[in-house]
Amino acid sequence: MFYEGRIQNFKQFKSLSELVSEIQSSFYTSCLYWCKDNDLIIGVANDQSTCEGVLEAALLNLSSGTMVDSLTLGWIKKHEWEDSIRKCFDNPFGSASIPFLYENETVVKREIETKSWFTCGCCGSSFKSNYKEQEKFGQDVGYGICPECENWYS
Ligand SMILES: [Zn+2]
Repeated sequence: MFYEGRIQNFKQFKSLSELVSEIQSSFYTSCLYWCKDNDLIIGVANDQSTCEGVLEAALLNLSSGTMVDSLTLGWIKKHEWEDSIRKCFDNPFGSASIPFLYENETVVKREIETKSWFTCGCCGSSFKSNYKEQEKFGQDVGYGICPECENWYS
């Protein structure tokens, strides 16, 4: 979410473990960290809203152009970061699958018109929508407000 508006640099790493060790020492909000991992291109962006609070990372599948998950690294022991990130990519039922644009290592932004699955933050049902329609509800990644519950929020 927050990463979209502020990425200016792309930094490539040879492996996920190199990437993880870099973000453990400094994790800049203006940078998208990425590496190739077999057939996958993994992107990790700092998704903290401010420099205070718990460290949050947006996990991006740059091969398919989707955000896979938002991982709260601040709640995970440092030696488990790499494993935890990898598990998010291995999970076929990842909590979020938000399409975004990734062009020439210079542009990354959410595709606001593309439909994808959301979980209703009110009743818990799954429904299809897009970011443009859900943005006004201020829900976290992958969550929105379904058409049945919308009346409660207007
Ligand atoms: Zn609902």
